[in-house]
Amino acid sequence: MTNENRLIKSEIDMAHYQADAVILWCVDDRFSSLLSDFIKLKQFKHVDLVKIAGGSKDLADAIKPENSFAFGQIKKLIELHHAPNIILVNHANCGAYGKKFETENEESVFHKTEFQKARLLLKANLDKNLNIETYFADRGGLVAS
Ligand SMILES: [Zn+2]
Repeated sequence: MTNENRLIKSEIDMAHYQADAVILWCVDDRFSSLLSDFIKLKQFKHVDLVKIAGGSKDLADAIKPENSFAFGQIKKLIELHHAPNIILVNHANCGAYGKKFETENEESVFHKTEFQKARLLLKANLDKNLNIETYFADRGGLVAS
C-alpha cells in the first residue's frame, strides 16, 4: 500500500497476543464509556470484543451453539487468542430485547436468567476451565450479575 493513499498513519504491533478476555457487549452507545472503564478497572491489556445488539441475547436464545453468531465468534477468538475469561454484559433498556419491565429489579432479574442460559450454552460447548463473568449495566453503572 502506498503511503499517499493512507488515511491514517500508525505503527501497529503485528505480534501475536494472548487476550485477557473475550467480552460480549451490546452495541448501545449509551453504555460505551462503561466498556473502557471496565477494561481499565480489570487491567486488561488485550481484549477481544464481540459487540452485537443485545449482548448475550444471541447466546441465551440459541438452543444449539451453531444457532448462535456470538458463540461462533467467542469460540473462534478463544482458539486464536486463548483468553481465559469470557465476560458477558447486558444492559437496562436494551432495544434488542424490546421488553418493558415494571421495575428495575424485574429487569435485572430477567437478565440474570438470560445469563444463566448463556452460561449453560458456553459451559456445555467450550473448555470447562474458562472463567465466565456476567455484568449488568444500568443508569448507575455496572454491577456483577
Ligand atoms: Zn442493547
